Order: sequence, then C-alpha cells, then structure tokens
Amino acid sequence: MSRRPQPLVAGNWKMNGLIADLGEIEAVRDAVVAGRAGRAEVLICPPATLIAAAAKIAQGTALKIGGQTCRSESCGAHTGDISAAMLRDAGASYVILGHSERRASYGETNAAVRARAVSAAQAGLTAIICVGETKADRDAGRAFSVVGRQLLGSIPVNPDVERLVIAYEPIWAIGTGLTPTIQDVAAMHRFMRAEVDRLVHSDAGAIRLLYGGSVRPRNAAELMAAEHVDGALIGGASLDADDFMAIANVYLRDAEAKVPA
Ligand code: PEP
Repeated sequence: MSRRPQPLVAGNWKMNGLIADLGEIEAVRDAVVAGRAGRAEVLICPPATLIAAAAKIAQGTALKIGGQTCRSESCGAHTGDISAAMLRDAGASYVILGHSERRASYGETNAAVRARAVSAAQAGLTAIICVGETKADRDAGRAFSVVGRQLLGSIPVNPDVERLVIAYEPIWAIGTGLTPTIQDVAAMHRFMRAEVDRLVHSDAGAIRLLYGGSVRPRNAAELMAAEHVDGALIGGASLDADDFMAIANVYLRDAEAKVPA
C-alpha cells in the first residue's frame, strides 16, 4: 500500500496583516507546538513585509512560513519584485505560485509559473502551484481540460517532488463561500493525481494535492476527507488563528481516529 504524504494546511494572508497582527502567528505557533494540528504540517504565508518577523516567531518550531509569489530571476532591475533567494533569506521555506489573483492581475502565465517554481526549488523553497477553473469553464464542461493545461504548463520538468505541492483552487470558490460538491472535489483531485503521475515519472505520489476555496471550520472535515486531498490552502479563514487551527484540527481528529492508542 502506498504511503499518503504528510498533509499540509497552508494559510494565505494575501495583502492583509500589519506588525500588530503578528499575535495571530504567535497563537498558531503555540497551537502547533501544543500538537493541535495532529499529523499535518502547518504553513502561514503572510505579506512579504512580515516574513522575517513571522519566521522569527516560528523559529525552532514546526510552523513553516512562506511567501505569496516570487520572480524567477535571483536579482536584478525588477522594481518592486522579490526573488526566491530573498524569500529564503528572510526565513521562508515555501512560496505560493500562480495564484489565480496573480494570474488575473499580473498576467502570470503557466510558463512564468514553471520558471518561478524552478527558481524556488533552486533557492531551497517548496513551491505551491495553484491551478483552477473559472465558473464559465466549469459550466461549459472545461474544468478538467483547463486544469490539465495548467498542470502541463506549470509543473517543472523533472521536479524535486519534495519541493512541489499543487493546490486546486476553483476561482469561483475563492472568497465566495461557495465550494464544489465533495464528489466534484474528489473527481478533480483524482484527475490531478493521474496527471501528476503521468507528468512526473519518479515518486509523483510524494507531491501533495491541496484543495483551496472557501475552506472554513464548518466544511473542512468533509473537504479534507475527499479522495486524494492532502490538505488545504486557506485564504480568509487563515487570518484568524482560532479559525485556522480549527481547520488544521481536522488532522488531529484524523490521527486520533486512525492511530490506536
Ligand atoms: C485563496 O485565495 O487561496 C483562498 C483559498 O481564499 P479563501 O479561503 O478565502 O476562499
């Protein structure tokens, strides 16, 4: 029987958070140290301005800190941008790439996402590559072909599987309170698992597949139980440590249910 990868519960703070909000990261750290995420790995991706301070808070614990994007170049004349090496230097160990908000606002293409994932791995970061269809794509029956093209174009050739995570985030579910049915989540994740296996020849089972889009404490257990879902990427609910840890807590109950005392 193949071993399931360690689940990942990742928070994307987006353009939210000031120094005054670092207490939420301290609270998550304390909950992680207390074992409230069970067998899950816990990650917070705050805005770039807070990464160094957040990394200091997380230092010496299992809580991970990540960035929300990076360029593929390591340095140069790119005003306002940030490189993977800079994220690493500030204490990040992960970076979110190709989030639909970045694809929409900055025209980030699959090729750009792939180049950034390569530079992230070179800098020692794990990339979380986001994919997902629009509502129009889903209604037109194109969800699988859209996600398939994004996977094909964004996943690096011969990636380091330990440094790659894929997040399925249907765009219409992000920040809307809407979620696909559990059957639709499972069907997409089954499809993604098969595609990742086809595209990545060696050890593709180690690549975690997250679900993202309106994950909340009330729906987390059901969504995380869907076939081939190895964790969650969480936007709004990650801003509150209690809500975020209530979601991560699914994996404590999960561990307690599966591992006899
Ligand atoms: C996201 O933006 O990655 C996300 C999943 O947001 P939310 O949880 O707020 O839907």
